[in-house]
Amino acid sequence: MKKALSMFLVLSLCLALLAVPALAEGTYTPGTYTASATGHEEGVTVTVTVDESSITEVSIDVSNETPAIGGMAGEALTAQVLEAQGAEIDGVSGASETSAAVRRAVAEALAQAKGSDGTGEKTAVADGTYSGTAPSFGLLSQMTCEVTFENGAIKDVKVTEESDSQTGEWFASAEELLIPRILDAQSLEVDAITGATSSSNGIKNCIAKAIDAAGGNADEWYTPIEKKDDTVVIDGYDVVVVGLGGSGVLSYCAAADQGASVFGFDAAGKIGGNSVCTYGPMALNSEYLKDLFNEGQDYINPDEVYDTWIEYVESEDKADIIYEAVYSSGKALDYYVENFGFEFTGLGLLGSFVVPSWDKEWCVYTPDPETGWNVLGPNKTYQFLRAMDLATSKNEKNQYMTELTGEKLLFDDDGNVIGVQAKYYDGTTYEIYGKTVILATGGFLGNHEMMMEVYGSDLNAMGDTVNKGAGIKMGQSAGGATYMLHTLPMVHISQVANIIRTDDLTPDQKAILSALALTTDMPMVTTGGEVWGNANQSGTQDAAVSVEIVFAPDFMYYNIYTQDDIDNIRTKGLSEAQSQATSAFLSQGGTLPEPGTPVEDIDTILEVGAKFNDVLIAGSIAELAEKIGCDAAVLSETLGGVETTYYAVPVTSWSYGTVGGLDVDVNMNVLREDGSPIANLYAVGQDSEGVCNIDGKAYTPWGGQAQSWTFVSGKIAGTAAATVAMNG
Ligand SMILES: Cc1cc2nc3c(=O)[nH]c(=O)nc-3n(C[C@H](O)[C@H](O)[C@H](O)COP(=O)(O)OP(=O)(O)OC[C@H]3O[C@@H](n4cnc5c(N)ncnc54)[C@H](O)[C@@H]3O)c2cc1C
Repeated sequence: MKKALSMFLVLSLCLALLAVPALAEGTYTPGTYTASATGHEEGVTVTVTVDESSITEVSIDVSNETPAIGGMAGEALTAQVLEAQGAEIDGVSGASETSAAVRRAVAEALAQAKGSDGTGEKTAVADGTYSGTAPSFGLLSQMTCEVTFENGAIKDVKVTEESDSQTGEWFASAEELLIPRILDAQSLEVDAITGATSSSNGIKNCIAKAIDAAGGNADEWYTPIEKKDDTVVIDGYDVVVVGLGGSGVLSYCAAADQGASVFGFDAAGKIGGNSVCTYGPMALNSEYLKDLFNEGQDYINPDEVYDTWIEYVESEDKADIIYEAVYSSGKALDYYVENFGFEFTGLGLLGSFVVPSWDKEWCVYTPDPETGWNVLGPNKTYQFLRAMDLATSKNEKNQYMTELTGEKLLFDDDGNVIGVQAKYYDGTTYEIYGKTVILATGGFLGNHEMMMEVYGSDLNAMGDTVNKGAGIKMGQSAGGATYMLHTLPMVHISQVANIIRTDDLTPDQKAILSALALTTDMPMVTTGGEVWGNANQSGTQDAAVSVEIVFAPDFMYYNIYTQDDIDNIRTKGLSEAQSQATSAFLSQGGTLPEPGTPVEDIDTILEVGAKFNDVLIAGSIAELAEKIGCDAAVLSETLGGVETTYYAVPVTSWSYGTVGGLDVDVNMNVLREDGSPIANLYAVGQDSEGVCNIDGKAYTPWGGQAQSWTFVSGKIAGTAAATVAMNG
C-alpha cells in the first residue's frame, strides 16, 4: 500500500506481450504524440507512440492526480489503452475523473497522429432539458444537474441536488463562478474553481452525462480555453496580504484599522480558507465572552494554560510568543468583535481536549442567521465578508481579489521585499507592489512533495489543498528560516482510505465498511507490518484518543481480519465495538446493524471496498505483505504465522492542515537562520504556527488553539506591518 501510494507514477508499458487489433496501414503518421486533459486535480498527460497502424507504447503521467485514487490508477489505465488500441477504455473504479481525462487525452493524441487537431464537428445534442448525476464533494449523496440545450448549445445549468453544502461552504463558489464560465465558453475544459475542485468537477461531470443523454458525445466538449498572457501592475500599497483565509482577513483588518492602504488576495474562489470550517477559537477571559456567558467573571486561569504550554513544547525559546498566544487570545477576540463585527455563540459548548477543568476555554462562531450550520460547524463566511467590507471602507485604495494565486516575492536590486507576483485564473500575471508583505497561505497540506520531504509520507486532506506551502516557500526565497516544521499535522479524524462517493455501496454498507476501519478491537498493523499498539504518546489520555493515529508510521495502520472473522460477521454479525464505530465529521449516513445481526452482504462490501483500495484481500501472509509493502517475515511474526485469507482495512488520518512554518519573532516578522528579522516580511496563521509547537508532537491540542492563532498572529502582524509601512 505504501509503495502504491507513491505519487509520481510515470508509467510506460510496451506492446510486445499484448495481442491487439490492428488498424489499416497508414492510419497514423508514425511518431510520438502528447496530449493533456484535466482530471480530478490538475490532470493527466498521455504520450502515445504509434507506427502506421497501431499504438506501440503508452506513457501516462498521473502525478498531478490525487495519489490514493487517480494516482494509483495509472498502471491499469496504461494497460487498458494498449489493449483497446485507443481511447475506448473501461477506466478504473473510484478514479472516474482520472479515467475520463485519460480517454480524452488519448483521443486527442491519436487525432494528432491522424493529422487532425481533434476539434472537429460535435455530435448533435437534442434540444430539451436532460439531467446528469455524478459524485462531487458531498458525503451523503451524489450531485444532480439539469442541463438545457438549445440549437446545439448549453443554454442553462441548474444544480437540483447536492449534499456539498452540508460539508462546508465551498460549493457555493463553484456554483456561482463555474456555471457562467461553462455557458460562456461552451466547454467543459474551463478550470475548476480553486478551493472547490470536487464540487466543480461534480458540476462538469453532471453536464457531461447530460450531453451524452441528449445524444451528444461529452468527450467533444472539452475545447481548450485560451489563457491570457498580459501583465497588470498594482502598486502604491502599504501592506499586501497573500491569502485571505482566517489569518489573512484578520491581518488585513488590523492593518486597515491603522489607516494603511491594503491589497489582499486569495487563490480560492472565496475568502475564508479553512477558517470557515472551524467551530471556533480559544479565547481566554475575553471581556465579550465574560459579559455574555459568565456574568462578567474570569473563566480560566491563563497562568495554568501558559505553564502547561511551555511544558508541552519543552522550551522557553519562544516564550514571548506563547505568552501572547495565551494572554492576548481573549483581547484579540474582543478587538475583532468590537471593530469588525465578529460574533460568537457560546462559551463552554466544547471543553478542552486536554484539561477537563478548562471547560470554557474556547467558543463557537455565531452561525449565519439564514443558512445556519453545516456538518463541519456554523456557516460563518458572512462574518469574514462583513469584516472585509468594514476594512475596505477604511481607505479608498483598499481592495481585494479572489482566484489570484501568489507565486513569488518580488525584490529590489538590494534584495529587499517589494511585493508579490501572482497569477489570475484567466492567466493574467499580476505584479503587486507594497511596502510590507504578510504571508497567510495556510501551510502546506496540499503540497505532496513538501509533505513527503517533511514527513516522508502524505495523508488524506480534510482541509484545503489550495494550501500548498506558497507562503513558506516565498519566505524561504527571502532567506527566511523555518521553525518546528516537523510538528505533526493537525488530525482529529480517522476514516477509511478513500471515501466512496458513488452509489456502488448503500449508505448502510458504507457505514459497515467504515466500522471495519474504525474498530480498535482487531489486530492493528503498521505499514511496516508491526503491531500498532495505539500507545499513548501524546501524554494525555483525551489527546491520545483524538489525535493518536497521527503518531502511526505514515499516519496510518491496518485493521487485520482473517477469513474466520469475516465468516463470523456474515453469520453472527458485528461485534459490540464494531457496531458502535462511527467517524466524527466524515460519516456517510447509514445505520450500523445491532451486534448479532448477520451481515449477509459482507463479501459485496469487501469486494467493492477492494476496488476503491479500502480493503486489501490476500490469500497468504506473503501476498498481504506484498500488498502492504512490508517485510513478510515481520508481518508473519505479527500475525502469529497463521495462513488464511486476510482482509486488511487501511485506517488513515484525515488532516485539517499542517502546523510548522516560517520562523517569526513576537511581531510576526519573518526571521533568518541567524535570528535577524527580514525587513517588511511577516507570516501568520499556519504559515508560522510552528512557533507555538514542537517537532514530532501533535499541535498544541488544547482546543481552538489553531483558530486562536489566526486572531492573535493576524492582529499583531497587521498592526506591525501597517506601522512599519506608514512610519518608514
Ligand atoms: C474541517 C476543519 C475544522 C477545523 N476546526 C477547528 C476548530 O474548531 N478550532 C480551531 O482552532 N481550528 C480548527 N481548524 C484548524 C483551523 O481552521 C486552521 O488552523 C486555521 O483556519 C488556519 O488559518 P490560516 O489563515 O492559516 O489558513 P486558512 O484559513 O486555510 O487560509 C489560508 C488561505 O490562503 C489561501 N491561499 C493558499 N495558497 C495561496 C496562494 N498561493 N496565493 C493566495 N492565496 C493562497 C487559501 O485559499 C486560504 O484561503 C479546523 C480545520 C478544518 C479543515
